[in-house]
Amino acid sequence: MRIPLLDLKQQIQGVEPALHEAMEEIIASTAFVGGAVVSEFEREFAAYCEAPFAIGCGNGTDALEMALDALGVGKGDRVVTVSHTFIATVEAIVSVGAEPVLVDVDPGTLVMDLNALERALDRESGIRAIIPVHLYGNMVPMDGLMALADKHRIPVIEDTAQAHGARYLGRRAGTFGQVATFSFFPGKNLGAFGDAGAVVTRDPDVRAKLAARRDHGRREKYKHDFFGRNSRLDPLQAAVLRVKLPHLDTWNEGRRRVAARYHELLPREVERVQVTPSCEPVYHQYVVRHPLRDKIRAGLAEAGIDAGVHYPIPVHKQPAWRARGFKEITLPVTERAADEVLSLPVYPELSDAQIARVVEAIKSSL
Ligand SMILES: *Cc1c(COP(=O)(O)O)cnc(C)c1O
Repeated sequence: MRIPLLDLKQQIQGVEPALHEAMEEIIASTAFVGGAVVSEFEREFAAYCEAPFAIGCGNGTDALEMALDALGVGKGDRVVTVSHTFIATVEAIVSVGAEPVLVDVDPGTLVMDLNALERALDRESGIRAIIPVHLYGNMVPMDGLMALADKHRIPVIEDTAQAHGARYLGRRAGTFGQVATFSFFPGKNLGAFGDAGAVVTRDPDVRAKLAARRDHGRREKYKHDFFGRNSRLDPLQAAVLRVKLPHLDTWNEGRRRVAARYHELLPREVERVQVTPSCEPVYHQYVVRHPLRDKIRAGLAEAGIDAGVHYPIPVHKQPAWRARGFKEITLPVTERAADEVLSLPVYPELSDAQIARVVEAIKSSL
């Protein structure tokens, strides 16, 4: 039996009757845009994040773009983030007309290196926002990051697309910065049945701007305060997310169980990507690293096991970076990580026998 990187079938089967019921309600109501389901999910997701407000939107990339917009970041501004992330983080910066300033990651955790951030803040001018990325379900050390941001009076947007429910010093991911963005892409820890996203904030002004921006800049039906866009959260997706949300903590706990088991069983020579001290991670990915990554991956494939690479080409090495005319930079830790990282199958339903099979396949490929 093949072991996929992620298996959603079992998760969905566990809540299937509730999913059908919720979707049938939407169909019966014929309210296919907006409506109570969306605002109920927004309330519930804000409560889950232990934050005052959540605003649903079309996807996690739009969430980032609209968050930057709401903070007034645009042409001529610069935004610090990492290159070791999914391209959307940087794409959103480019989309609002700003320039990305990419810094290296910590060699142990592979999230933003705060020393590199500090150097960028001291050296560069025109920086108007910082986007820390809580990669793999781990978190950036947000106390240190917020101290630097506050010192320079620069707002922070947490890219929380991979860390729904994680905690740092007991606080939920997404409650440290002025704004946080989430993706509910099907493969994320909380996934919809298509594209969906949200922005979380404690700032009522940001909330009001975003609620209008995602809906053609309007606060009333045909009165448009500014030119916005169309990036609303579908009621059908909100209905799916409302069914799944109450299970998220249990599912995240299941991911931690799988990670602990890998940690215990994997051979010494396979380096684990570390968790930030004081963080309770949610293991969106379980990532190891090895100079013979491609060989291990091939061995796993031969044994019928899917592994992933997040991400094989850093953003500053992408054709898109050059095509846009951004200058060549070198980020040694990021570049080495791209050659060595390997994501192993991780989902709450993965059995101990399956985990053992993955570990055995790694051992024999070495
Ligand atoms: C998935 C992801 C996004 C983008 O989310 P979409 O909903 O796919 O647009 C942004 N940042 C990170 C780190 C992601 O993993």
